Amino acid sequence: MADVFERIYGQPHVREFLRASTSGRRTTHAYLFTGPAGSNKTQAAFALAAALICPEDGCGSCADCTRIMDRKHPDVRFYQPEGANSYLVEQMREIVTETELAPIQASRKIFILDRIELMGPSAANAFLKTLEEPPADVTFILLGRTRESVLSTIVSRCIVVPFRHIPATEAAAIISQNTGASPELAKIAIEASTGSIANAMAFLQSNEHLAFRQEVLSALLSLEKSDLWDVIGQARKLTLAAKAPLDKMRALREAERAKNEDLLSKTTLKQLEKRDERELKAGSLRAFGRMLAITASFLRDVLAVCAGTPELVINYDVADGIREVAERVSEAQVIQALSAVEDCRDALARNVSPETCVDALLLQIGEALYGSHSPC
Ligand SMILES: [Zn+2]
Repeated sequence: MADVFERIYGQPHVREFLRASTSGRRTTHAYLFTGPAGSNKTQAAFALAAALICPEDGCGSCADCTRIMDRKHPDVRFYQPEGANSYLVEQMREIVTETELAPIQASRKIFILDRIELMGPSAANAFLKTLEEPPADVTFILLGRTRESVLSTIVSRCIVVPFRHIPATEAAAIISQNTGASPELAKIAIEASTGSIANAMAFLQSNEHLAFRQEVLSALLSLEKSDLWDVIGQARKLTLAAKAPLDKMRALREAERAKNEDLLSKTTLKQLEKRDERELKAGSLRAFGRMLAITASFLRDVLAVCAGTPELVINYDVADGIREVAERVSEAQVIQALSAVEDCRDALARNVSPETCVDALLLQIGEALYGSHSPC
């Protein structure tokens, strides 16, 4: 039976719980999925959304299921905190207003809110009443790292579904089983997708993502021989490559809105436009997040070689380059380079322009690794 729940990899208990509750229609209006990053909560949330909307409880193959699992269904909304590190009160007010609008295609609307542990008391105040008693056609699926990290006023209004941590080797095995990729390649994909099994599988199936990884790695490998202008050129190239899929998505969304212009009210169109903008922003953060994940993975590999444990290298396809870098630098220098990755992540979260962030990232890594030349 290949229903949507089959795609909740590595979480057999969750899979059975959600399957049983949707097939028996024992559903509720608010779920809280808790579990560490990479435990497949987001994929499970979309699977539950499909089961709630599909006339056959998530068959996995109808138009509704396909659009939802591809994350393209207009009535299944995905939100992330819009503040640097928190949900904003204004964002929550907008979400509440959206719950009051009629669904666009389906008979119900699903609101998935990621990183709910980043919702502070003021944002929660704007939201609690709706979470407790949403309109009859609305379901909330909230995703949080741990139950304890989420405000108790939110927890108490939800059915809590705990997800287990999936060990890296098991995650790699699941990915190779489902994609046919080797376990080594699966590990690369997991690192580039910051631990998420679903994203790692999408990564392996996308030539664009694989080519992007190569570009990031070759920029990193050429840093030693690059002058300032080379580095700025590389940064520009990476920024454009990271943004390319988003430009495509923007054009698609604009065309879709134009097509529906006569059918939808002005308010709904405005809402859709806002939602599309938000999703593009989230998509942009994800694309640059992937770049940072690939960069960090590369630097950790250099560190592994410096520390005399080359068997821990993940990016085996560039092992020679990694060894050459490791011969030229010290562990302290690599650790300093890794902190540039964190600086970049913070800057992106604070809305600093990606161009500026990527310039600074490559320059800081170059400076950390080759600014002063001391051997390993
Ligand atoms: Zn279906």
